[in-house]
Amino acid sequence: MSTPEIVIPASLLPADGRFGCGPSKVRPEAVAALASVGQSWLGTSHRQRPVLDAVGRLRAGLRDLFGLPEGYEVILGNGGSTVFWDVATFGLIERRSQHCVFGEFSSKFAAAAKEAPHLEDPEIVRSEPGTRPDPVANDAVDLYALTHNETSTGVMMPVARPRHADGRVVSGLVAVDATSGGGALPVDPADFDAYYFAPQKVFASDGGLWIALLSPAAVERVGAIKASGRWQPASLDLSIALDNSRKDQTYNTPALATIFLMNEQIGWLLGNGGLAWAADRSAGSARIVYSWAKASDYATPFVTDPAHRSNVVATIDLDERVDAQVVSKVLRANGIVDTDAYRKLGRNQLRIGLFPAIEPSDVEAFTRSVDYVVAALS
Ligand SMILES: *Cc1c(COP(=O)(O)O)cnc(C)c1O
Repeated sequence: MSTPEIVIPASLLPADGRFGCGPSKVRPEAVAALASVGQSWLGTSHRQRPVLDAVGRLRAGLRDLFGLPEGYEVILGNGGSTVFWDVATFGLIERRSQHCVFGEFSSKFAAAAKEAPHLEDPEIVRSEPGTRPDPVANDAVDLYALTHNETSTGVMMPVARPRHADGRVVSGLVAVDATSGGGALPVDPADFDAYYFAPQKVFASDGGLWIALLSPAAVERVGAIKASGRWQPASLDLSIALDNSRKDQTYNTPALATIFLMNEQIGWLLGNGGLAWAADRSAGSARIVYSWAKASDYATPFVTDPAHRSNVVATIDLDERVDAQVVSKVLRANGIVDTDAYRKLGRNQLRIGLFPAIEPSDVEAFTRSVDYVVAALS
């Protein structure tokens, strides 16, 4: 089917049309800064001072942004969050993990743990897409896998250590996939042992790296698994990543542009007021979208419980009179891109990123543009 020819008036359009949930909008100022160091930075050795210093800045900046206590470590490696699931399967899960599964991303880490021959089958706590499950205290579990924001469905989850019925905190580690929430959702480092993410969402850079904030208990676990003699491929070995990170480097060559752009974004977030500011800004954008959808006669927030609705990824169902795929195509033809629902969710839905880099005024303009398209289609 061809895309209907609808031209959204320029006065309604957002200044920047990038609403994807990853890769997501990279601020033009950061790209300009990268261009200005093009000849002194790109194409230089990652084992020399300028790059080591930038990795050091990235680690210190994240320590600052998340308010990490003494003893917590910022480590990084190549491969993105998906690779970190394999890394954790080798180097963080001792015998058995528990996974809160409520969408595509959370299910993938569970699948990685299930396939690992050296681990017992994980315990899965599942809930329907659009809702979220709660972890269940279990002494047989040594790692609880939570997801701060399930990007496929637009459901967020508070980060908290699970407790037994008598109030005792569990002894297992808490590992949080914060790929789309980290840096824009509030979190207290006391509540996690591993908080990991990649640069292409809140950190407004390119993909390809994983970054993990590890508590002293997680660092201890890494050492204990290494000492046990478990075989781990070197590129997935957390103890090797830890050694390299402490020297402000990665085990193998990282993408220098990715590190540079991520540093620009960390600096921008810190300069504006840090995590609290970023969380506020995304929450404000979320209010704009959800209140627009609630007031609309054709759009509804997919997530029914308002407390579970994500502040970083909004999922908006359209009623059957409006084809969301056609709306997304028309938006794309007008420069508003990546508003499609997560493909496997299979809903008549728009999904947009509300990351701090995206201007709240552009989120407002997005809603006006959708109203215009839907009116023109009907
Ligand atoms: C995007 C995303 C991932 C995958 O990240 P990659 O860097 O592409 O591996 C994993 N988990 C969540 C929650 C995500 O949003």
